[in-house]
Amino acid sequence: MPLKEYGKKRNFAVTSEPSGKGAPKEKHGSLIYVIQKHRATALHYDFRLEWKGVLLSWAVPKGPSLDPSVKRLAMQVEDHPVDYASFEGTIPEGEYGGGTVMVWDQGTWTPEQEDVDAALAKGDLKILLQGKKLKGSWVLVRTHGYGRADGKSWLLIKHRDQYVSAEDITAEKPRSIVSNRLLAQIAKDGGGDVAKAATGDPAIAKPIRNASQTPAPRGKRTPAAAASRSSRKKSK
Ligand code: MN
Repeated sequence: MPLKEYGKKRNFAVTSEPSGKGAPKEKHGSLIYVIQKHRATALHYDFRLEWKGVLLSWAVPKGPSLDPSVKRLAMQVEDHPVDYASFEGTIPEGEYGGGTVMVWDQGTWTPEQEDVDAALAKGDLKILLQGKKLKGSWVLVRTHGYGRADGKSWLLIKHRDQYVSAEDITAEKPRSIVSNRLLAQIAKDGGGDVAKAATGDPAIAKPIRNASQTPAPRGKRTPAAAASRSSRKKSK
């Protein structure tokens, strides 16, 4: 009963999330990869990989980073039914995970190791993502840091390849990959808490003034700053 914990946490008479009951679909071919952006008690990104008929799941508070030097905490949570991969909408407030769910990225994944179960047991899973937003090689590594000894604490890290980027992908690509909606719109359409959902969307972009349009305040030009500027010029 791999989905026992999933079922125990939810009341399917109230939430519209898939129950995971019924026969698991006979699947051949590609394994599902999905990230769901979830504005619940706190904003996080649920990173899910299909494996053996369920979605292995990690909650990544800050979401993925395309910078290999950035390690993102990924807390392993209960396995989810495979049907969950397409769930986008609202979970009633007061229910488990109450809030708004967006399908932020989806695609397929391929293990980079022959024995996935051994990699999971060891806590070092190397994967290739074929998503719309995330691509290329990534690793999930179990950590014993953060005061946790329960084995649920992992790090999600980008491997070096052609998909490495300095782009802040969560900020640059905040919309649903299936509906192009932001969280606030999903909440509105689903009768959820729009104001709460909106806190997970990027703030409305303010026009960025470039340096030539923004004269430095005169009063703040100290002699020291002026000297440092002129010395930089000289050293060119
Ligand atoms: Mn979640």
